[in-house]
Amino acid sequence: MAIIHGEGIDRTDIDTAFQHISFTHADAEALAAKTPVLRILPQLNVIKVGGQSIMDRGRAAVQPVLTEIIANKDEHQILVGVGGGTRARHAYSVALDLGLPTSVLAKLGMGVPMQNARMLQLILAKDGGVLIDHDDFGKLPLYYRLGCVPILPGMPPFEHWEKPAKTGRIPTHRTDAGVYLTAEVLGARSCIFVKDEKGLFTANPKVDRKATFIDRIHAGELEERQLPDLIIEPIVLTYLQRAQAVKEIQIIDGRVPGNLTRALNGEHVGTIIYA
Ligand code: ADP
Ligand code: MG
Repeated sequence: MAIIHGEGIDRTDIDTAFQHISFTHADAEALAAKTPVLRILPQLNVIKVGGQSIMDRGRAAVQPVLTEIIANKDEHQILVGVGGGTRARHAYSVALDLGLPTSVLAKLGMGVPMQNARMLQLILAKDGGVLIDHDDFGKLPLYYRLGCVPILPGMPPFEHWEKPAKTGRIPTHRTDAGVYLTAEVLGARSCIFVKDEKGLFTANPKVDRKATFIDRIHAGELEERQLPDLIIEPIVLTYLQRAQAVKEIQIIDGRVPGNLTRALNGEHVGTIIYA
């Protein structure tokens, strides 16, 4: 303990690195970053099941992905994050038409991923599917010891505290960002996005037939290329470059049987974006 004297006020303080320097000081980070960041669940594999790309295609697309998740769950710790898709986009467009602000859209954006997470949990119930929310990270070790597959709505819980968008009113952090940030905070081994294309192309292959496949690219280089459209929310590229733990992601085609298993085994089957 130390007594800080100043301006006639004696303040009792605890002797810490930040006793005499504020968090906003230019030297604060040098003091903060002395200990490497702990990987909380270093064996964890976070898998995003796409909303529009997988869920909205119904049983034909969803069931094979779930079958592969079940087949791998005893070998790999798996946390499923799920997207929203067309119903979420509809809610956003109605809300935008009504003039509602970004933060309200971000709150509404939780609804459909939660519906999708509930559906996946019910389908996976007999195999150990458990619905979790953002306060349940503390129970994950227990779920893995019990052989469960936790399922989380992909939307990050920023809700009314969603940061203002750089341009426009669509929330910057949607389910790709939420799933990526989940992997990063837990220090996951891998973060795999299961969608309906082989991976990243130079343009949306559903629109541009001349688009070519990119099998591996640095997140910064991809940002600089300013492609007309991306298969992943652009903010994920920003966070990849700031990451302490998860410095690469893989985007795979969940409609190709075996792809998810191979990606879980560390194989390169889609597009890897790294930092
Ligand atoms: P999710 O289902 O996870 O929300 P999205 O539907 O948002 O996924 O994104 C996947 C879609 O992104 C693909 O179906 C593809 O049509 C589209 N897309 C847009 N730009 C690209 C691109 N550059 N490369 C590949 N796919 C792209
Ligand atoms: Mg999407």
